[in-house]
Amino acid sequence: MAFQSLYLHIPFCLRRCNYCDFLSHTYAEVKELAAAYPAALMQEMRMYRCYADKLRSVYFGGGTPTVLPAEVLADLLAFIRQTFQLARDAEITVECNPATVDAEYLKTLRRAGFNRLSIGAQSFQDHELKLMGRLHTAADITQTVAAAREAGFDNISVDIIYALPGQTLDDLQFNLLAAIKLKPEHISLYSLQLDNDSIWGQQFAKGALMAADEDLEADMLQMSWQLLKQYGFVQYEIANFARKSLRDYRSRHNRLYWQREDYLGVGLGAASCMGLRRWQNCGTLDDYVNSLRDLHRPPVDNERLTVAQVMSEVMFMGLRQTAGVAIYPVLDKFRIDPLVYYSQELAPLYSAGLVEYLDDAHSLRLTERGFMLANQVFLAFIKDENEDIELCNDGDFWDLC
Ligand code: SF4
Repeated sequence: MAFQSLYLHIPFCLRRCNYCDFLSHTYAEVKELAAAYPAALMQEMRMYRCYADKLRSVYFGGGTPTVLPAEVLADLLAFIRQTFQLARDAEITVECNPATVDAEYLKTLRRAGFNRLSIGAQSFQDHELKLMGRLHTAADITQTVAAAREAGFDNISVDIIYALPGQTLDDLQFNLLAAIKLKPEHISLYSLQLDNDSIWGQQFAKGALMAADEDLEADMLQMSWQLLKQYGFVQYEIANFARKSLRDYRSRHNRLYWQREDYLGVGLGAASCMGLRRWQNCGTLDDYVNSLRDLHRPPVDNERLTVAQVMSEVMFMGLRQTAGVAIYPVLDKFRIDPLVYYSQELAPLYSAGLVEYLDDAHSLRLTERGFMLANQVFLAFIKDENEDIELCNDGDFWDLC
C-alpha cells in the first residue's frame, strides 16, 4: 500500500469566477495565511513520506497555483524531490490561469522541473470569458501558450467549459477550433455545473439563470468528440483528448486516479485514498495552517470504504475511460472479479448494447451508445452494501500511519 501520485491543492485565486464552487480564497484577502501555506504543505508531506512509492505523477492544482510566485512553486517542487523519490519520467503538472503568468514566470517553472502545463482557457470568446468572471482574454491564452512553448513546455493541456448560459453549438465549435489552432497536446472538456456554492448556482436556484438544455448539452458533447477526432485527437476518457502521437500525451495523473490507484492529496480540503481508506483534509484555512504549524495532522473526515463503495468506484471511474475497466488489475488488487460481482447488473446492459467485453484486452468498456448514456449506465453499479465479502486485506492505512 503506497501512493504513486501526489496532488497539492493551492486554494487561492485572484478573484472568484461566477461558476466556481472549488475550495479557494481570494488571494488578497488571506495574504498572511497564504504566506504560511507552503510551509504547511511541506510539513504535511513530511508526515506521509514513508508511504510513498516512486512518484509517477505530481500535480499542482487549485484554486490557481500560479497566483503564488513562481519561486514558491519551484521551492515546493524541490522539496518534493528531496522528500520523495520521483520516477525518472514523472509527469509534473501545474495548472495555470492565463491572467497570472508571463514569459519569465513560465521559464522559472520549466527550469524548476515542471513538465506539463494545464491552462484554464475555458473559452476563446471575450464575451463568454467576461460572463464567467474570468480575468483573462482570448488573446492572453494565445500569449500564454506561445510563452509556454518558448519556455520549453512540450506538453500543454487546454481546459474548455461548455454548456454555458446562452452558448450555442457554433460558439463551442469556435472555442474548440481556436484551441486546436494552438496545437496543444491535450484538451479537457468540462460541462458547466451549477452547484449551490457558486454565484451562478445560487442564481440558478432562485430561477435567475437558465441551465443549458440537456439535448443541446448532449449534442455539444457529440460534436466535440467528432471535431477533436477529425483534428487528430484521441479520446481516452469521456471528456479528455490527447493528440495522436508516438508520445503518450494522456494525463497520467488522471489515469492513475481513474484506475483507482492510491493517491495522496495535501493541502486545504485535499482528498486522499489509500487501500480501503479515504480521507479529506479540513476546509478551514486557519485550522489547516495552524495544525501543521503545531506539527499536528490537519483535521480530516475519513471513512473506511465498503465493498460496494469500492466496486462502484472501480466501475464509475474505469468506465469513463475508452479502454474501460481492465479486469485482472482489479482482481489482483481487490480479489474480486467485477464480471462476477456485477453479473446480474451487466446482463441487461450487454443486451441493450451499452457495455461490451473485449476478450483480447480482458476489459469491460462502454460502447459508443453507452458513452452517450454514461450517467445512466453508472447507476447500475450502485449496490446495497454487502459486508459479507472480504476485500483484499492489506491493512488499514489509517491504523498504520
Ligand atoms: S474557476 Fe479556477 S480561477 Fe476561477 S475561482 Fe475557481 S479555481 Fe479560481
